[in-house]
Amino acid sequence: MKNKQGLLFVLSGPSGCGKGTVVRELLNQNEDIFLSISATTRLPRDGEVDGQHYYFLTKEQFEEQIATDGMLEHASYCGNYYGTPKDAVMNMCRSGKDVILEIEVQGALQIKKKHPDAVLIFILPPSLEELSRRLIDRHTEDMETINKRLAKSTEEIRHAKEYDYTVVNDTVLETVEQIESIMEAEKFRSKRMLPMIDDLFSTK
Ligand code: 5GP
Repeated sequence: MKNKQGLLFVLSGPSGCGKGTVVRELLNQNEDIFLSISATTRLPRDGEVDGQHYYFLTKEQFEEQIATDGMLEHASYCGNYYGTPKDAVMNMCRSGKDVILEIEVQGALQIKKKHPDAVLIFILPPSLEELSRRLIDRHTEDMETINKRLAKSTEEIRHAKEYDYTVVNDTVLETVEQIESIMEAEKFRSKRMLPMIDDLFSTK
């Protein structure tokens, strides 16, 4: 027996904690999980493709989406807007697919308020030194942006306790396994099994 409605999983973690790699590996190993493609007003990095990594919008386009209630959540992060287009996510959940949102803290907490059933998972780096090293080593931002992101990271980590689960990203494969276990267990919460319990008593 399987739940009909897909679940909404929110993954957050400071910039450089390795969540991008964890999410990629999670998707590689689980074909039936859908990753929401966010919209942003930041410029594409080398190799990023519109509609695949993000929908790259102008500030005006983004604000139009907010005004027309097209975003499930949105936040301003280091000077740019980021948001989750609503329809794609809701349609996937309705069709029974589990959906992952890889988003920052303000957006995650908005989701928890609007959708208390969503499951929030925070990914911690092994240490702050490691976080700083990973951000510098990936060479995708200049030093000013890296410093901004590091300041933001410590602020974000303080919110980990508002999440349902926290995992430490020591090694990618272990972290993926831990997240898979959380996802699997969440499906069997009694509150999610109510339709199956009711089914047993319905007259055929
Ligand atoms: P980046 O610029 O490194 O791609 O992302 C910066 C931060 O924005 C990351 O923490 C990422 O998880 C977050 N982010 C990406 N998409 C969204 C979104 O749709 N909504 C929110 N609130 N944050 C997002």
